[in-house]
Amino acid sequence: MSRFLLIGPPGAGKGTQAARLAEAYGIPAISTGDIFRFNVKNETELGKLAKSFMDRGEYVPDSVTNDLVRDRLSHEDAQAGFLLDGYPRTSDQVNELDSILADQGRALDAVIQLTAETDEVVRRLLNRAIEQGRTDDTEEVIRRRLEIYEAETAPLTSVYAGRGLVVMVDGLGAIDEVTERIREALDARLGVN
Ligand code: AMP
Repeated sequence: MSRFLLIGPPGAGKGTQAARLAEAYGIPAISTGDIFRFNVKNETELGKLAKSFMDRGEYVPDSVTNDLVRDRLSHEDAQAGFLLDGYPRTSDQVNELDSILADQGRALDAVIQLTAETDEVVRRLLNRAIEQGRTDDTEEVIRRRLEIYEAETAPLTSVYAGRGLVVMVDGLGAIDEVTERIREALDARLGVN
């Protein structure tokens, strides 16, 4: 009972929360953004391709991202559960994830929607740019990433809401508080099932 998605705008704190939730539930946190960044750092072919999109704040093409996730979810450590952070982000990716899980005879247990105000996420992202030096955290690219999130990813919430899977959690506040909020919301949801 621990197949979760974590969806939210850039800067909502997905990565931070994903690592903590993965630990709490004993499942791997699988972040497509982290996998792309690892490949960029190691200058692989995938990394070169991904970088050209990431540096502009655009999404890496679905075909590439979908293959990567299908492969990752076939690994042994993801069989008992997983937390996907930053995937799916497009309706094509939603369809692919449905197909991957159907092939495995599995289903999602919950979709955690982390909410945050635009002003706050921009502030956080600009801070992160200073702290971590991410090349996609410049003001112009941040604006583009938020635009694409609104156009492509925000509408996915209603798809999962229609399936009764969405757990909405306010991403503002101290890191510990937000983790606790998510755990309570998830436990309440899983408890009633
Ligand atoms: P993130 O760390 O999740 O904010 O992702 C950083 C960047 O990686 C995004 O702005 C995209 O360029 C790329 N990326 C991560 N996940 C996906 C995805 N599911 N689909 C397409 N591109 C992605």
